[in-house]
Amino acid sequence: MTHVALVTGGTRGIGSAIAKRLKADGYTVACSYVGHVKTAEIFSSNTGIPTYRWDAGDYNACHDGIAQIEKELGPISILVNNAGITQDSFFHKMTPDQWLSVIQTNLISVFNITHQLISGMRERQYGRIINISSINGQKGQIGQTNYCAAKSGILGFTRALALESASKGITVNAVAPGYIGTDMVAGVKEDVLLKIVAQIPVGRLGTPEEIARAVSFLASPDASFVTGATLSINGGQLMSL
Ligand code: NDP
Repeated sequence: MTHVALVTGGTRGIGSAIAKRLKADGYTVACSYVGHVKTAEIFSSNTGIPTYRWDAGDYNACHDGIAQIEKELGPISILVNNAGITQDSFFHKMTPDQWLSVIQTNLISVFNITHQLISGMRERQYGRIINISSINGQKGQIGQTNYCAAKSGILGFTRALALESASKGITVNAVAPGYIGTDMVAGVKEDVLLKIVAQIPVGRLGTPEEIARAVSFLASPDASFVTGATLSINGGQLMSL
C-alpha cells in the first residue's frame, strides 16, 4: 500500500505543485482548501487528486476533515502543512483581526492538523511532517509582524516536535521559501516586487515546482536522517547557518 499524503492548501500555488509532485512520486494524495471552490474543482479534475474543504484554523473542522480523508484513503503518514495567508499592515496600524487571522491560519493550523495525526504516526512508527515557513519568518519583513511571528513560530515548533518524534520513525522539517511566483506574491505592488527581485541574487522569483522538489525529498524514505532542519530555498536572498 502506498503512503497517504495530505497537503493543506494544496489546490493553488506552492501547495498544488507539491501535491502534483507527491502524486508523481507514487503517493496517494489529498488536498485541503478553504474558500476557492471552483479552483479546487478544476484542480481535482485536472489531477485526479481529491480535495476537501475546511478551515485549517478550526480544530474541530480539522478533526472531522482528517477523519473523512483517513476513512476514504487510509492513514495519513505524510503531512505538508502549507496553508497560509497574509494580511499585511504596519504594526501600529494592525487590527487585532489582522493579527489573529494570520496567526490562526499560518500557525494554529499547524497545531490543529498535526495534532490529529501525530498519535497514529507514533503508533505506526513512521511519519514525514513538512512545515512550510518563509524567508520572512527567518529575517523579518516590514508590514508582516503577524506573518513573521507565525512563520518563525513554525520553525520552533518543527525543532521541538522533531526532538519528540525522532525515536518513533517520524521526521519533522521546515521549508522556508523565498519569494515564489504565486497568487500570494501577485498581490504585492509592482514597484515593491521589482525591489524584491533586485534583492534575489538568482535574479528572479522562484517557482512552486522548485519548492515541491525539496518537499518531495523530505517526504521520502531517503530523508530518514534529516529532522529538525530548515531548508531555505530563496535564490540566495538569505544565507543562514
Ligand atoms: P496561495 O495563496 O497561492 O495558496 C494558499 C492555499 O492555502 C490555497 O489553497 C488556500 O485555499 C489555502 N488556504 C488559505 N487559508 C486556508 C485555511 N484557513 N484553511 C485551509 N486552507 C487555506 O499561497 P502560496 O502557494 O503562495 O503559499 C503557500 C505557503 O507557502 C503559505 O504557507 C505561504 O505562507 C508560504 N510561502 C509563500 C511564499 C510565496 O512567495 N508565495 C514565500 C514563502 C512562504 P483557497 O484556494 O480555498 O483560498
